[in-house]
Amino acid sequence: MHHPKLYRFVHLVHHQSRNPSPWAAFAFHPLEAVVEAGIVFVIAFILPFHGTALLAFLIFMTFYNAYGHLGYELYSKNFLRSALGRWVNTSVAHNHHHEKFNGNYGLYFLFWDRWMGTLREDYDAVFVEQK
Ligand SMILES: [Zn+2]
Ligand SMILES: [Zn+2]
Repeated sequence: MHHPKLYRFVHLVHHQSRNPSPWAAFAFHPLEAVVEAGIVFVIAFILPFHGTALLAFLIFMTFYNAYGHLGYELYSKNFLRSALGRWVNTSVAHNHHHEKFNGNYGLYFLFWDRWMGTLREDYDAVFVEQK
């Protein structure tokens, strides 16, 4: 969604929230909604799993998306020093994504950002500063 052609016409709507609230989690262009919802249908038709598992995933996705856009960090300052804290995304990381537009692209995890070098260099400092 951050490819220049997609960003301008699709993802920019979501980024109009520079300091997001949980409502921003569901504020995006209709095409982005189709892509995000579409992955659920793709998974449902490719992978065999119980409907309850899908429901649990959708509930988790909704709450984690709201947390990611909360604008307030729920994890403690020490979370970054834990093994889980290195790999799990935080509200600070996604808030920083909205503020700076580049870097911190993950919503659930940080490992892709760490492996691809797109985690903002000041993420750790901003996290500690906001706690
Ligand atoms: Zn974005
Ligand atoms: Zn967002």
